[in-house]
Amino acid sequence: PQPVLAVVGRPNVGKSTLVNRLLGRREAVVQDTPGVTRDRVAYDALWNGRRFTVVDTGGWDPGAQGLQAAVTAQAEMAMSTADVVLLVVDAQVGATETEEAVARVLRRSDRPVLMAANKVDDQRTQAEAAALWSLGLGEPYPVSGLHGRGSGDLLDRVLEVL
Ligand code: GDP
Ligand code: MG
Repeated sequence: PQPVLAVVGRPNVGKSTLVNRLLGRREAVVQDTPGVTRDRVAYDALWNGRRFTVVDTGGWDPGAQGLQAAVTAQAEMAMSTADVVLLVVDAQVGATETEEAVARVLRRSDRPVLMAANKVDDQRTQAEAAALWSLGLGEPYPVSGLHGRGSGDLLDRVLEVL
C-alpha cells in the first residue's frame, strides 16, 4: 500500500483547497460552510515520481461534542492511521485554542507531523506564518492553497518525511 498523508485542522482553514493544490487537480470538495467535507476522503497523489495517498479529513459534527474535541479526535485518528500528519492552520487567523489543543496531541505523535500555515497569499502574511512556531510543531510552511504559493516546497518536505 502507498504511504498516507493525513490532512487535519479546523473547518475553513483551507484543508480541501490545499489538498486539491497538492493533487494538482480539483477533487476535494471546497466549501465556504465549515464541516461540509465528507469524513476522510482519500486521493492518489504523485510528486517527483512518488505515489502516496492524501486523506482530507473533516465532516465531524461540532454540535455533538464541541469543535475542539472533534478536531482533536480527528488528529488522533490521523496519528494512528497515517504515515505523516499535516496540520493546516489559517495564518490569517493564527493559532486558536483549538490549534493549541491539537498541537498538544500531535506533539505526542511518533509519526512525523508537518504544519502548513495556509492563506499566506502574499508577503504581507509571512510574519503571521512565523508566529505559528509557538505551537511547538517545528517550522510552519507558508502556503496559499488558493494561489499555489509554497505548495511545491511543502510537497518536497512531505516526500522527505514520508
Ligand atoms: P476546509 O474546511 O478546511 O476544507 O476549507 P476549504 O478548503 O473548504 O476552504 C474554506 C474557505 O477558505 C474557502 O472559502 C476557500 O476558498 C478559502 N481558502 C482556502 N485556501 C485559501 C488560501 O490559501 N487563501 C485564501 N485567501 N483563502 C483560502
Ligand atoms: Mg474541507
